[in-house]
Amino acid sequence: MNKKDYYEVLGVSKDASSAEIKSAFRKLAKKYHPDVSKEPDAAEKFKEAQEAYAVLSDENKRKQYDQFGHAAFNNNGAGGYDFSDFDFSDIFSDLFGQSFGGFSNFGFGDFSSSKARGRKGRDKIIRVDLTFEEAVKGTTKTITLDVNDTCEACHGKGGFDEKTCDKCGGSGTITAQQQTLFGTFMTRTTCDKCEGKGTTYAKECSKCHGTGSVRVRKELEVKVPAGVDTGNQLRIAGKGEAGSNGGPNGDVYLEFYVRKHDLFVREGNDVYLTLPITISEAALGCKKEIPTLDGVVKLTIPAGSESGDKHRLRGKGISAINSFRKGDMYVIIDVKIPQKLSRDQKKLFEQLAKTNLDDSPDFRKLKEYLK
Ligand SMILES: [Zn+2]
Ligand SMILES: [Zn+2]
Repeated sequence: MNKKDYYEVLGVSKDASSAEIKSAFRKLAKKYHPDVSKEPDAAEKFKEAQEAYAVLSDENKRKQYDQFGHAAFNNNGAGGYDFSDFDFSDIFSDLFGQSFGGFSNFGFGDFSSSKARGRKGRDKIIRVDLTFEEAVKGTTKTITLDVNDTCEACHGKGGFDEKTCDKCGGSGTITAQQQTLFGTFMTRTTCDKCEGKGTTYAKECSKCHGTGSVRVRKELEVKVPAGVDTGNQLRIAGKGEAGSNGGPNGDVYLEFYVRKHDLFVREGNDVYLTLPITISEAALGCKKEIPTLDGVVKLTIPAGSESGDKHRLRGKGISAINSFRKGDMYVIIDVKIPQKLSRDQKKLFEQLAKTNLDDSPDFRKLKEYLK
């Protein structure tokens, strides 16, 4: 690597005193500080000088440098001394003071490290109503979304003719000095001119007014897998709001709401069906047609059935999402007592009543208690 000698950068001799080094750096800082310098490579020169000064002003580091050269600081992979933690405030505060309308940030090292990072766009949650059948069988839905999308005119940059922000010198942050009872504090805030990007544009994009994104209505075709239930969410990556500073788009989450079915009640992947039968069907037994999610099946109801009896139809439930496993269907017997009887029916019941219908243990228990 062809790195310039630190002494050369500052323009001092190898045996320069610390006062000479400081004064040399101050001269360079004045000349190349991006807030004031008109030179095209000012930022680079300024950074170079900062690095050289950070090393040579520290007795220990200077010794290491004299001994090993740049190799002394090459273990950070950046190809030089990482001076991002070096406090330049004492040298700059008396150098520039308040003359720039507050103490600007330029003392804190690496120009790229504090720049605003690309931020991911916001996620969106969209409620999707489904019929029971759609949820069970799966379906395709067209979703309409209003999102901020990357502005095509400026490719999301917000403007044209990019240049280094002249307020923060490209660092994206501004450091202010605050006098308090407890001493002087340095506070670092995001640059308001470039919003932390470190760059501004000569011409603002008129289509997005500099925001880099535009509001658009989008239609999204979505495959809803079989088996979704109310509350399930489906993530569609990268279709949410546009990110900022080149960050990725947010995601879209579809949250399903499944409408109730007239007959079927869902519990997990099982389906419940209440089957009404008459007293005679319950007493004598019968065969019934049962509607299921995949067609009609025949079910034999044995003689002596009661309300609440449960019959399982294996595998006639709902497929688990993304699996071949299926739930079951349960048929729940509901014996209906007739509310109105014809004269003939009444006669038949009266005849029936003369027979011994109360021979179950429950009747006996009650009778004995009443005695
Ligand atoms: Zn700025
Ligand atoms: Zn634009």
